[in-house]
Parts: sequence; C-alpha cells; structure tokens
Amino acid sequence: MLRALIFDVDGTLAETEEIHRLAFNATFTASGLDWHWTREDYTGLLRTTGGKERMRRYRQEIGAEQPTDTVIAALHATKTSRYAEMIVAGGLALRPGIRDLVAGARRSGLRLAIATTTNRPNVDTLCRACWGQPAEALFDEIAAGDEVARKKPAPDVYELALERLEIAPAQAVALEDSRNGLLSARGAGIATLAVPSVFTKAEDFSEAQWRADSYRSADLPDFLRDLLSASNQTAGVSA
Ligand SMILES: [Mg+2]
Repeated sequence: MLRALIFDVDGTLAETEEIHRLAFNATFTASGLDWHWTREDYTGLLRTTGGKERMRRYRQEIGAEQPTDTVIAALHATKTSRYAEMIVAGGLALRPGIRDLVAGARRSGLRLAIATTTNRPNVDTLCRACWGQPAEALFDEIAAGDEVARKKPAPDVYELALERLEIAPAQAVALEDSRNGLLSARGAGIATLAVPSVFTKAEDFSEAQWRADSYRSADLPDFLRDLLSASNQTAGVSA
C-alpha cells in the first residue's frame, strides 16, 4: 500500500539546473577562475552529483591541479548563496503539474518527503520562492545531500528518507528526473516514476516502473491520476 511520495528536487520540482549552471559560471568569473560551463558541458557534468564533486570532476577532466579542494569548497559556498539570490530574484517556476500533485497527494493522505543531493539551504530557497512557504510546511521529511556519506546514485539519501518516514520501500514511490536519481531510488528498493528534464532527456530510464513527459494529470500513470481524482472528489473540487 502506497503511503508516501518521495521527490527529488533539481530537475523534478523545478528545472533548476540551468540556474545552477549560471550560478557556477558567475562564481567562477567573480573569483578570477577561467572556467565556463556551456549547456553541453553541463549536460555531461550532471552525471556527477553534488556541486563540489562536479567541480572536482571538471578539474580532473581538464587535467588541472587548481583550484584545491579547499578552494572548491569555498567556491561552492559562494555559488550556493549566488544561486539563492538568483532564485529569490525570480525566474524559477515549478515544473508543470507539480503544484497540483503535491496538493492532491497531501489531500489524499499521503506523506510527502524529499530525497535530494542538493543541500538544505537550496531546498528552502526553492520552496519559499515557488510556494511562498518553508520546506517543512510542504514536506513531512527532508533528506538532503549534506546528511549522507554517499550521494546519488548510491541509495543513502533514499534510505534516510525511508528511515525518517518510518516506512518500508514498498510503501513509497520516488519521483526522479535523472538516471543517477533513478538508480539511487531503485537501490533503496523504491518503485520510481521517471519524468526527464531538459538536461536528462537522453538518459536511460529502463529501470523505472513508470515514465512520463510531465507531472500534468493527463501524463501521470493511472495509480497517481486515480489517487488525485479521488482526493479532488473528497475535497469537492472538480477533477
Ligand atoms: Mg534531479
């Protein structure tokens, strides 16, 4: 029996990756580092999860020794604040259908959680910008990247979400936009709905139980659409 939906954040709740990319580039430029990530570069770099890890991967790819890990950590902190400023300034919307899905799942009595590689400040910023509410007002449990040893595709962050929800893997469904996220959820034993985003369309989602083009009701798999329409009827809202 389904008891909870567990959402990824970047690329799932909103198409945040383009803003992350711009925030990285602005941070590099401001610090005098001659790095610039094109959309094409970033599509490849997204296979490495975590911002610091992504910078270290790029440093390795171009055969550089600088910046050091310590400098990378500082750059990443700057990039996180810059990202927040950019989100607060506007320009980020929830993916189509997410608002109704979150509201409908809540009405239907499901618990809602987040399992993300991004850090907690980014989750809060996004929720405040898109919903006008803090993350904890929308989600019962939040498992963030900083809280686990291994990032996606390791199952750690989904296992942490399950532990906090106090439910079994079979009682949850994960919502993911990337292959790394899919492998993380599947590694934790959770059935997954894959809804690819702009940067992940070409990835392999063959292990997903369901795949959809968007979170709009018409695109959702039957079990979710039924759940939402039942909750709408209960609430006296037309479906
Ligand atoms: Mg994602």
